[in-house]
Amino acid sequence: MKLQKFKSLPYIKFFDFHNDPYRTEFPNYSYCTQCNITYVDKHWKLKAKPEEMKNPILCPACKKIKDGYFEGILCIKGEFAKKHKDEIINLLKNEEQKQRTKTALPRIGKIEEKDDMIIVYTTNDKLAYRFGKALFQAYKGDLSIKWSDGNIFTRVYWERN
Ligand SMILES: [Zn+2]
Repeated sequence: MKLQKFKSLPYIKFFDFHNDPYRTEFPNYSYCTQCNITYVDKHWKLKAKPEEMKNPILCPACKKIKDGYFEGILCIKGEFAKKHKDEIINLLKNEEQKQRTKTALPRIGKIEEKDDMIIVYTTNDKLAYRFGKALFQAYKGDLSIKWSDGNIFTRVYWERN
């Protein structure tokens, strides 16, 4: 059923090691003093053990948010979206949590309301894509995804009236 719905979407290949200017190597057991995520065996963990949190750093996501640098934008439009704003934002936050249990780094940077749009900025390109997919899965509507070269930046548009 789910697959059927996504047949019209383009096949997307993700690059795990793209040219992210914020991608730097951290020593094992580095933890973010801002958001507490911890780098353990090349993996960002949401909830690390205290003994794993040894080297204080600012994680790339917190740095991006501080700099106002985002790699994904999700634009939400339409009458349905306006009426169900809180529900939609909750759905996105749940999806964010779900993704962050797999890898803790990507997250929502900020949410803006502008004219008749809700704009969600994400610190990572894939997260915006996953949000679009989650909205489409939950509410159908119109979804379109625009990738820039090398997939470092993604614009996702979702509209339902
Ligand atoms: Zn952080």
